[in-house]
Amino acid sequence: MLDIAVIIVAAGRGLRAGGAVPKQWVPLAGISSVARSIATFQDHPAISRILLVVQPDDLARTDRLAAEIVIGGAERYLSVQAGLAALADTPPDLVLIHDAARPALTGRVISDVIAALDDFPAAAPGLPVSDSLWRGPDGVVSALEDRTALYRAQTPQGFHFRALQKAYESSETAATDDVAIARAAGLNVKIVPGDPANIKITTPEDFARVERALGADMDIRIGNGFDVHAFEPGDHVVLCGVKVPHDRSLKGHSDADVGMHAITDALYGAMAEGDIGRHFPPSEARWKDADSAVFLRHATTLSDKKGLTISNIDLTLICERPKITPHAKTMIENLAKLTGLGADRISVKATTTEERGFTGRGEGIAALASVVLVRK
Ligand code: MG
Repeated sequence: MLDIAVIIVAAGRGLRAGGAVPKQWVPLAGISSVARSIATFQDHPAISRILLVVQPDDLARTDRLAAEIVIGGAERYLSVQAGLAALADTPPDLVLIHDAARPALTGRVISDVIAALDDFPAAAPGLPVSDSLWRGPDGVVSALEDRTALYRAQTPQGFHFRALQKAYESSETAATDDVAIARAAGLNVKIVPGDPANIKITTPEDFARVERALGADMDIRIGNGFDVHAFEPGDHVVLCGVKVPHDRSLKGHSDADVGMHAITDALYGAMAEGDIGRHFPPSEARWKDADSAVFLRHATTLSDKKGLTISNIDLTLICERPKITPHAKTMIENLAKLTGLGADRISVKATTTEERGFTGRGEGIAALASVVLVRK
């Protein structure tokens, strides 16, 4: 088993990302980029030692981190040198060097870098450049550059420890990149597939991008709605906008569409916006005999305005009769039209109460709806 150490470089001051705290120490969904990087290496079975290189100013931040702490220099290469020096007494076989400002690193990338070191003295993740590349002095395109065989460099970059140590000893330049130092010493650097999510936090916008990559911006709202309408004399009921023949009708101020009311209330519930009665008071005559699609549209428009989108709707209609199943498909199609949802995200099902209770006695219909809203 190879002895593999990692040096996580966290000594930068991160001025470009703005703010008072260096970017690598800013919590992303509650956990700093440094802590996330350490955790990813800790979880990787091949890694035996984790060194964290920091500025003296940041020592207080390292209290509960599972890494050996090394004090770094003013420049990145000085920090890497400090890390290599700390490993020199008990040199590992391989060393990986990672930028602490890349919090969304995955174990797959680490494994690929280590695997490539079987055949090469150095290896690093890179992503092929897919955008066109322009040369643009003064903000005006002067040439289209050939992007063939160009890569965007990522970390961790991996090296045979002794080879990198020697490369640093013989390096005369203050290179910003370990690959540059390795190449200057004649080492071949193998490129392994990078990960688009493994971005380096540089600007304030990058924090939001990384939080998205980490799935930390998830805003999911669940809502439920329940409604009941009693039967009265009549020849049909309206359920989810569909006219269903029956020997009675549902009593109500509007069209008494118990299914659509439950869904609408579930939407208001998910937004913490009260219920139908609050938005369409039954005391107002203009909602008399109203098409309940008006209520549902109001709720979906409100969710649009709030930047929320419906993920799915699940409705259960509770009655002995009329039979719902023969009409369920038409109801789903109608709800799909009204909400803009795909039919595969809408469920209309029915149950009886085994002839118990008011629905069992055929006194009315009850409806129970659940919806999920997600941030767009
Ligand atoms: Mg109602």
